[in-house]
Amino acid sequence: MQSELQQLNNAHHLQPFSDNKALAKSGPRIIERAQGVYFYDSNGNKFLDGMAGLWCVNLGYGRKELADVAHQQMNQLPYYNLFFQTTTTPTTKLASKIAELAPAHMNRVFFTGSGSEANDTNFRMVRRYWDLKGQPNKKTFISRANAYHGSTVAGASLGGMDYMHKQGDLPIPGIVHVDQPYWFGEGQDMSEDDFGIKAAQSLEQKILEIGEENVAAFIAEPFQGAGGVIIPPKTYWTEIKRILAKYDILFILDEVIAGFGRTGEWFACQYFDLKPDLITIAKGMSSGYQPIGGVIVSDKVADVLIEEGGDFNHGFTYSGHPVAAAVALKNIEILEQERIVERVKNEISPYLQKRWQELADHPLVGEARGLGMVAAIELVKDKSTNERLEADCKGGGICRDFAVANGLVMRPCGDTMIISPPLVITKDEIDELISKAKKTLDDTANFYGI
Ligand code: PLP
Repeated sequence: MQSELQQLNNAHHLQPFSDNKALAKSGPRIIERAQGVYFYDSNGNKFLDGMAGLWCVNLGYGRKELADVAHQQMNQLPYYNLFFQTTTTPTTKLASKIAELAPAHMNRVFFTGSGSEANDTNFRMVRRYWDLKGQPNKKTFISRANAYHGSTVAGASLGGMDYMHKQGDLPIPGIVHVDQPYWFGEGQDMSEDDFGIKAAQSLEQKILEIGEENVAAFIAEPFQGAGGVIIPPKTYWTEIKRILAKYDILFILDEVIAGFGRTGEWFACQYFDLKPDLITIAKGMSSGYQPIGGVIVSDKVADVLIEEGGDFNHGFTYSGHPVAAAVALKNIEILEQERIVERVKNEISPYLQKRWQELADHPLVGEARGLGMVAAIELVKDKSTNERLEADCKGGGICRDFAVANGLVMRPCGDTMIISPPLVITKDEIDELISKAKKTLDDTANFYGI
């Protein structure tokens, strides 16, 4: 018997990324409150949130300082726009703070309400840049198969997910995709290093095929998140850097997941030693306490837009929203004061990754991988062949359901199970996460009779 709220939901709510028909049968789980790394549903069940919400609640739940600053800002100035030659104090302070943390060649921020809007902003900003440079033919964006760059028309087109492209006749013209560096899934007939180079060279082939004079930018996540925590082989970024240095195209690094500490550096470009022209940010910027995103813009791009551009006819009602900006600013202040990024690097991510590797011994696990505070396991039926549990990757959903029954949120991406816990998770909580994950794998193995 479903509750009144569940029935209301079934009748009136069309939920994102959901099979709403199936959801109506089961009734959605109603999340009522949260504290630290745990949340609780309306039936009193407690869950360890291995996904930090949706890769975003980096500070964990229940940080009163963030609620207080939102309350204070709402009372003082709940809203004003940035279109009327105006700004607000938290908006400008946040831009300045982000510029201070970003690589030295990046000093400006364009604010949006989300990561998807930020990638739409990249799309228009990059084309505007090339127009102003007198090279209007440089219009084509190169992205990668299985990338996730958001859900708007440009975001989903920049993304490389077939199941999204099938809905809405995407990608839009001017966006093409090259190989992803997914060694476990696609490259095991060669060494990991060779595969990394081969995947990177698909970018160069595409540039040559289209013609450098027509290519606007290459966009990539530092590690693919929603694609399944795909961590490129060591050779990959080195080879991409060689290619980017050779051709006159812009480089957009989508750090919506990776930014603000998840790799143990403020930005993943510092972790991988990359020099992007634009960085997409969102999620961890406010620890998900307020919706806010943006683009960090290099001097190279900003100088052209500002000095030669005049108007950039683009922006959102909620660009740089003062309450969201005040919360993001406080979030960054806490990350700094509590030295959370350093703690991730030196203490907690080494511990998480060491314990995560124990899962590799399980009969169902073909590979365990991770970096910083993200990790993945590949579910297989047979470790010697890496054959999947079921032909259509249903094993991930089965495993997810056992995890939920065990009080743990892990996310399935096909047959890859992923985690991205709050950065503040303790060692004891990691121990709990690992033991729940092991139990979940045992339950899944029993289900398949393995
Ligand atoms: N880019 C990446 C790498 C993401 O992971 C996401 C969301 O998961 C987005 C963009 C889109 O962000 P949003 O959902 O805030 O629009």
